[in-house]
Parts: sequence; structure tokens; C-alpha cells
Amino acid sequence: MSFYLRPPKGITNIINLETTVRQRFLCYQNIINEDITNTIVDLECLVEDSVLDRLGHHLFRLLALKSRHFYTVFIEHEVQLLGLRLASYNPEDAKNFVKSLKSQCATCLEAIKVDGKVKNYFIELSSVCLKLLSYFRTPDNVSKAQIQLHFSYCFDLLAKRQYDIANGMLLINCTEWKALLLSLYKSYLHLALFDMKFIPQVNDALQDERIKSVLILARDLFCKNNSLRKFGSLDMTRFEEETGNFPLCMKTLYNNLSKNNRLGHNARFDFSLYLKDIGVEITDAFEFWRKFYSKQHSSCSSCTHSWEQNEKRYIYGIRHLYGLEGSRKSYNVKDCSQIQNTILGANEEGGCPFQHFDDNNLRSLLKNSLPVNRSEKIETIINERRGNPKKGCEKFLDFLVEKDAVNDELHFKNPAEYYFLLKSINSEV
Ligand code: SF4
Repeated sequence: MSFYLRPPKGITNIINLETTVRQRFLCYQNIINEDITNTIVDLECLVEDSVLDRLGHHLFRLLALKSRHFYTVFIEHEVQLLGLRLASYNPEDAKNFVKSLKSQCATCLEAIKVDGKVKNYFIELSSVCLKLLSYFRTPDNVSKAQIQLHFSYCFDLLAKRQYDIANGMLLINCTEWKALLLSLYKSYLHLALFDMKFIPQVNDALQDERIKSVLILARDLFCKNNSLRKFGSLDMTRFEEETGNFPLCMKTLYNNLSKNNRLGHNARFDFSLYLKDIGVEITDAFEFWRKFYSKQHSSCSSCTHSWEQNEKRYIYGIRHLYGLEGSRKSYNVKDCSQIQNTILGANEEGGCPFQHFDDNNLRSLLKNSLPVNRSEKIETIINERRGNPKKGCEKFLDFLVEKDAVNDELHFKNPAEYYFLLKSINSEV
């Protein structure tokens, strides 16, 4: 029962590390599916406050520290997990939770040598716990039932605008103890993740080969998890920036669309599914396609339809891909092997550049896509794709991020997984 204020102690093995990571992802997935019954039941690594539970939380904290992409997913799901636990407490459990939190606060305060935000947070948390304990003992005593807390410790509650505020202090009734604790927990996670950047032992942990390998596993599981990786839809105001994470197949389609304001039917289908899978909301998809199809098509475009004349058809088509029309099946972007096996008609857009482009076209595409200091790698990529186009793409990604793919295992199954993998790597700090 805790906010995971202190790191886990003891000795464990690599199997346990991997199992905790897998089970915590499963727990996050269950939270998304609102599968409350199975969220934590039968997951031995999620037994509250057990060594494995703390281990999983702190491993995920390391991943959140390394990856901005995972950061929000981590905080939101950890807060929801605590919410589920608090919801299951009876009054005695709640009292014990707060007691334990207060005692851990005291231990943390003893260990902190310098004044600062973290110390202030623990002082505030400790005083909230004291107040809550008094409320739990005599819940009918109205005079003891209100807590004053600076808004910076509970931004969430401030945003809800349900609480009175005076001189920067929120006035919260103790009956709202669950919302208060969740908000304080969220603030703590933000603070802890910021503070970890300056703790030498954290850096040591990140250099540890066993931790490194388990974080690579966690990143791969995250990138391959459809629901988690899309957590938080794609911010369309940053779309151009995001195209830097697109694989060359989709980057080429996007470039064609930007140039001609149109895509051929199959290419539009593939690109729409890709956008959906990387987190573009349906309303943003309408706006995205409307923007291009309302413009004049170029003379070499294979499609001459316009948004104005075909709006209903386009909207229906997009809704269909998102599983809101027809058979209501939610479609996904094709796998690389399917894209590579596509037989393209003359002048048809699409396909995989590592399969469908000739050497000269691929060479010029790679030249425009790789950093200048890596252009000498182009021939290596071209040779690699001859035996296996997918390997060519993996090699390209390897050179793009300047990592050693042999050790780092940059694997993906489809263009959306490629996007999330590169996005995660690029968001590593
Ligand atoms: S290998 Fe896959 S992700 Fe890479 S360019 Fe080809 S289809 Fe796209």
C-alpha cells in the first residue's frame, strides 16, 4: 500500500524482471479494456506492494524517464491502477494505506538532506496524511474534515473547478480523500520523474546490462501494443514533425499527397489505415483529407475527385475504416510482407520502396532521408534489400538512429510499428 515512494530492495533474476514487465503491460491493457475483474487478479506481479509490484513500477519509471512517448502512458495508467486499488478499500484498508504512506513519508524526509521541491512535497503529503487519519478516526467531526493544500500539489483538482480556492490554497473536504490522494500521487510521479534525472544511482541502473535488456523488451512490448502506443491521440498540430518518424513507404505516399493533393484509391486506403493506426482521431482524419481534396489536383494525379462533390462518400469511407459503418470491423494497416507482395500497376503509387523501387530511385530516396554523414551507408542498405527488402528497411532504420541494430533489435511488423519504434527511440532522453 503505497505511492511507491522508495525503490525495491533485494535480489531478483532476469526472468522476474521480464515477467514483471509483461504483467504490468497486461494490467495497463486491462485498464484500457475496462476489464476491471482481470486488471490485477491473477497477476502475481501486481500483488499490491509486493516486491514484484514495486519492481515493475520502478522499471516502468525508468522507461518513462527514457521515453517521453511512454511518460504519459505510465503516469495515467499508474494513477488509474491506484484508483482501482483505493476503490476496493474498506475504511480500515483506507486508514492503513494512509498510515503506511505517512510512515514512508517520514522515512523519505529523514533521507533528504537538501531543501527543495521534493522535500516540500513530502512535508505537504505528511500533513495531508495526518489530517486524513484524524478524519478516518472521527469521520463525523466536520471541523476536522477540511484540508487546505497549495494548488501546485494537486493540479488535477484545480482543473476540475469543483473546489474553493483562496490565496492559492485549495479547500478540499476529507470525504474526497480518494480524489485527493490520486491527484497527489500524480503530482508525485511528475516530481519523482523530474528528480530522477539528477540521481547518480538512476544513471548507474540505466547502464546495467540486465536493466538495459529488460527496458528494450518493455519498449518493444509498448510499441507493439495497439492500444497503449496510441494512448493520447496524435497531435495534428505537430503532424509535419511526426512525419520524421514515418517509414519510407508512408513518407513517400505523404510526399505524393502533398505534391498532387490526391492519392490513388489503394494508396489512399493504405495511408488512411496507417494514419488511423498511429493515432489520428476520426474527426482529424476528416479534416486531413478534406484539406487536400478541397484543393485543385495536379495534372499528373491519378485521382480527379474533389471533397465538395464526394464528401458523403469520403466520410463514409473513413468511418468504415474506423469500424463505424458496414460490417463495423476495425481495419489495420497492412503488414510489411503484404505491402511488399502487392503487385503495383504502371504508375500506381504505394508499395514498399525496398521492394518496388529500382536501385536508382531507392538510392535517391535514401540520400534525401539519411543524415549527410551516413550517406556512405546507402550501398549497404541497397545490398541488404536485395536478399530481403524488410532487412533493407531495418538497416535503414538502424543507420537513421545511429544505433547498432544487431544489439538493439529494431524489429517491426508493419509501418505503424516502425513509426512507434522510431518515435520511442527519438523520444529517448
Ligand atoms: S519494410 Fe515495411 S515499413 Fe519499411 S518501407 Fe517497407 S513496408 Fe514500409
